[in-house]
Amino acid sequence: MRVYNCGLCPRHCAVNRIKGETGYCRAGTSVKLALAALHFGEEPPISGVGGSGAMFFSNCNLGCVFCQNYQISSESYGREISAEDCAGIMLKLQEAGAENINLVTGTPQIYALVHALRYAKQHGLKLPVYWNSSGYETETAVELIDEFIDFYLPDLKTLNKKYARAWFAGEDYGETAARSILKMLSLKPNKTIIRHLIMPGFLDSTREVLEWFAKNAAGRAELSLMTQYTPVKNGIVSNSAPKRFVSQDEYKTVLNWLFEFEIEDGYFQELMPDSGWLPDFSRENPFESKLSKTIWHS
Ligand code: SF4
Repeated sequence: MRVYNCGLCPRHCAVNRIKGETGYCRAGTSVKLALAALHFGEEPPISGVGGSGAMFFSNCNLGCVFCQNYQISSESYGREISAEDCAGIMLKLQEAGAENINLVTGTPQIYALVHALRYAKQHGLKLPVYWNSSGYETETAVELIDEFIDFYLPDLKTLNKKYARAWFAGEDYGETAARSILKMLSLKPNKTIIRHLIMPGFLDSTREVLEWFAKNAAGRAELSLMTQYTPVKNGIVSNSAPKRFVSQDEYKTVLNWLFEFEIEDGYFQELMPDSGWLPDFSRENPFESKLSKTIWHS
């Protein structure tokens, strides 16, 4: 696993990123950051009072066709910075009152982030660090970042191969994400929140994820059920992405399944009434002002 033969994630592109070759994620070898902000839209213990110190990295190794952050994930919006500057931004978030450092989709940049986190800790970073990922990473990548991480915040988007092929061109997503999550649970039991986004019209996928959680993670992790799926009008066009929001009936059905599977530990979002909250990363504050306060913008 080296960036000269990149296999940091299950795509195993085998490109030489040191020589400037890029793989599926289009990441180079430096940190590329779009935004650092105090974020108040995470689960209550993560946002806390001061806000989560969210750092939104550019590029993504999963590439969901419905991504609400498509400007940074697939259009590479952001600026390359040194690992030392990245550490400086973490310290600025700390000074601004952040409750934690929340690394959003940093998987393709793990090597640079290891360097940045080590430097930040040597220079006074005391905040707990969250690894907020799509779950699509190798167990080796998880082991590499673990020393610098206090909590894991992985997605488990689906276990269904057909949906994974259609949504992320990654039929192996479910099996690899489940493996990486089990690795996280073994390394940091009771310090993991598994997020699942309900996909309108695809409740069979949600049921499978809930069943997996009940069998494999309950008691060692919390579940965060998210209802914020929003059809992205200007993002990646795909016929496989739902064109509507989660319905009230779907919401009730999923809540009933929580009782059926006896899943008690975790969080669920209220239904989102409209798409007004979608971020626009070209703005100084991409989110609604009550949700976010910008500390650094690319
Ligand atoms: S991190 Fe990027 S280049 Fe490396 S294997 Fe994954 S998608 Fe390919």
